[in-house]
Amino acid sequence: MMARRDLGDLIEVSRRYGSDARYVLVGGGNTSVKEGDDLYVKASGFALGTITEQGFVRMSLSKLNLIWDKGYPVDKKMREQQVLADMMAARCEGETARPSVEALLHGLIPFAFVVHLHPAIVNGITCAQSGEAAVRELFPEALWIPLVNPGYILAKIVRDASLGYEKKHGYWPQMIFLQNHGVFVAAKDVQGIEALYDRIMERAGSHVMRKPVFLEAKADETRMGLVKDGLSRYYPAGTTLLPLFNRELQTRLQNAEAFHPISSSFTPDHIVYSGFAPVWIGEEVFAAEDPREAVAAACRAFEMVNGVVPKIVAVQKTCVFATSENALNLYLDTIKVAAFAESFGGPRFMDDDQIDFIRTWEVESYRSKLAK
Ligand SMILES: [Zn+2]
Repeated sequence: MMARRDLGDLIEVSRRYGSDARYVLVGGGNTSVKEGDDLYVKASGFALGTITEQGFVRMSLSKLNLIWDKGYPVDKKMREQQVLADMMAARCEGETARPSVEALLHGLIPFAFVVHLHPAIVNGITCAQSGEAAVRELFPEALWIPLVNPGYILAKIVRDASLGYEKKHGYWPQMIFLQNHGVFVAAKDVQGIEALYDRIMERAGSHVMRKPVFLEAKADETRMGLVKDGLSRYYPAGTTLLPLFNRELQTRLQNAEAFHPISSSFTPDHIVYSGFAPVWIGEEVFAAEDPREAVAAACRAFEMVNGVVPKIVAVQKTCVFATSENALNLYLDTIKVAAFAESFGGPRFMDDDQIDFIRTWEVESYRSKLAK
């Protein structure tokens, strides 16, 4: 039987980090606690900040870890489907929720508490050109995992790397940095988790040379009005259009080159909530005969090419519009990560094939659906 105190501790720590925007946004991140053969892991679609007991799925660790003795097809789609089916089958009786896609990873870490988050400042390192070198220097005791497909492959690579680490050091790593994703922290109790996160935030923070400048800046109201009218011709009636502008964006929106560091996706969360890429609209639209129509046409062209409606619209020397609060918050995070990454060799987006993997991944589309 799970000691209720442990689950209580897990809920408390999940809510605390989950409601602190420095650590994680919207539905991102996940946590777990184990005791005996029980694993309580966050269910898909719950946000850490408001989580209750219902937000956790009870699983059998011994059943879950059977996955490591099985072979799976090479075909990505078939493999993920079969792993998902085995994960569902590893739930304890009466459980109906779907475990987090990272449940397999939680299950293999031999510490009672595991708290996985996506702090912007940490992603300033994991999404940087010299991210690996920075982790080795700042956190020599940590494990670095290069960019791989999430789900089964990620868990397998972490497992192999951790076993190698254990052979070398005699114990398991308690901090695992995932390129273009975030960090896993493991400890025997909540105090251990907090101590590690404090250390991570302090070390990362003290090595960041430039923070994003979110001071107010004056936007061109006339242009903003034209863009908003143009967007309302493109998006279905009732679509939220939230404007975003500040000193940092003022610099980024100068031209396509300055915009480049915030023109794609850093992590899976960014793809899920703010779309794989924003649509960039050059200022030549304002010289068009009908600027509103030119704005709408740019969005239609983006949709034609990419097969999705843009969630973020960035207009040169004007402002950004987001189509939801979540899209806006994750795009602000993109802007932060890009600025932090400058201190670690400059930003590095996910590879195109990794972006495609997330875009077509059934599990992530399930998350997107729930997030709506
Ligand atoms: Zn994650």
